[in-house]
Amino acid sequence: MQISTQQIDRIVQQVLSNMQGAGAGNPAGSVPGSGSFAIASSPAVSVKSPGSSGEEGVFENVDDAIEAAWTAQRSWATAYKVEDRQRVIEKIRTVSREHVEEWSRKVVEETGMGRYEDKVEKHLAVINKTPGPECLTTEALTGDAGLMLEEYAPFGVICAITPTTNPTETIINNTISMIAGGNSVVFNVHPRAKRVSAECLQVLHRAIVDAGGPGNLITMTREPTMENVDRMANNPKVRLMAGTGGMGMVNTLLHSGKKCIGAGAGNPPVIVDETANVELAARKIYEGASFDNNILCFAEKEAFVAESNYEGFLYNIQKEGAYLLSAQETEKLVSVCMKRKKDGTGFEVNKDWVGKDASVILTQIGVKVPDSCRLAVCQVNADHPFVQVEQMMPILPVVRCQSFEDAMEKALQAEHGNRHTSSIFSQDVTHMTQFARLIETTIYVKNSCTKAGVGIGGEGHCTMTIAGPTGEGITCARSFCRKRRCMLAEGGLRII
Ligand code: NAD
Repeated sequence: MQISTQQIDRIVQQVLSNMQGAGAGNPAGSVPGSGSFAIASSPAVSVKSPGSSGEEGVFENVDDAIEAAWTAQRSWATAYKVEDRQRVIEKIRTVSREHVEEWSRKVVEETGMGRYEDKVEKHLAVINKTPGPECLTTEALTGDAGLMLEEYAPFGVICAITPTTNPTETIINNTISMIAGGNSVVFNVHPRAKRVSAECLQVLHRAIVDAGGPGNLITMTREPTMENVDRMANNPKVRLMAGTGGMGMVNTLLHSGKKCIGAGAGNPPVIVDETANVELAARKIYEGASFDNNILCFAEKEAFVAESNYEGFLYNIQKEGAYLLSAQETEKLVSVCMKRKKDGTGFEVNKDWVGKDASVILTQIGVKVPDSCRLAVCQVNADHPFVQVEQMMPILPVVRCQSFEDAMEKALQAEHGNRHTSSIFSQDVTHMTQFARLIETTIYVKNSCTKAGVGIGGEGHCTMTIAGPTGEGITCARSFCRKRRCMLAEGGLRII
């Protein structure tokens, strides 16, 4: 059955006025045309949609999850003001802060990857630095022919696919960005993080409802499957597919025939040139490459160091706490952490060791290091699998380069055209510009950790969805909106 927007508005108004009549909840929000309005703070507000099996946003069936999110979005876009979006998002931030330690611990337990203390930092970054609706700026143009306005409008229901490497962080980040733009979201979370993802989503769902927002503004299916993603791609009520994860998933979305925002893999190279402050480079690269055991797509994955700074770099990174592998140990580690691809075209990672602590991985080759050692480094050639494969382990291959030009060429090759993230340690502005022009990455950091590029220890807002392939870059509410234009003719509203 097709329902028109006017009918939805009438239904929304009817439901809201019934609630008002029943005296439900505290005055928390306002609805256009109804003055000060009581929006229930109890979970009774459509937490369970009629005819669906939704439990605080978690559904057994993907079609029900879409339907409920669609109804919620129509209400969110038509019956709520921008101040309501602000209030709901503030509530999400407050409630999420209370769960940071719990979610960080549970993500480590369920996925078996990463470091608790770094997950705390990542959660706080998305909670505090994901912008709300304030970034939706209106463009206005006036002239003899009248007044033109362009505004950021919602797409509608968004299907959001989240990775195992930042499961709850991406749910928080995507929720804030997407609902700030007036959308609702149906998540397809990573199967390896489905329990903590569901818990997180339900907490955020409760926060939305408690702040007076509609139930089911964010939903998910309890069992995420590829088939669900297909059903979302084929459902006309889903207007946008947003995927954060590996290139296989991004390429699938790009073939879905639907508008798609794809945040795919990286393999970020870092250059240390002959002018670099080598102590700073070693300190920052140690910090960045070991952060959350290197599972972040934007973390430094391989270092290209100019000849004159090479020994100094290795000396200083060991001083920071890194373990320097011998050539023999490096090759033993390859046989643990890498597997030959079945088609014989090279190597792929052995997922058993992705995101594990350096001390745990090194035990596999009989090397004992203290838990405080967060990173292993090895000296290899540029064609080594540790350089070429996105390994997401706290193992940093270091390549000796004849010159800055040599380093650039090798870094470009290792990045594989992902155009995701890269960085340089240098005091030569020409070098900084040359490498930026060549590598063309979405994130480009000079003289700091690459995480500074998403606002963790750097300026600018934070995201966990870096949309390189489709070009939205460091996503925020604007990225998940469509532009609409309104034109008032004859200049009646001009003041000049
Ligand atoms: P993954 O590709 O295995 O899984 C990501 C999500 O996609 C999961 O929810 C998974 O169930 C789903 N998925 C996988 N294949 C699919 C397909 N064919 N169709 C539909 N859905 C599919 O990735 P992961 O292991 O969770 O995360 C690590 C990868 O993601 C790395 O390559 C990393 O660089 C990348 N990543 C990128 C960003 C970014 O912002 N660009 C952020 C985080 C992770």
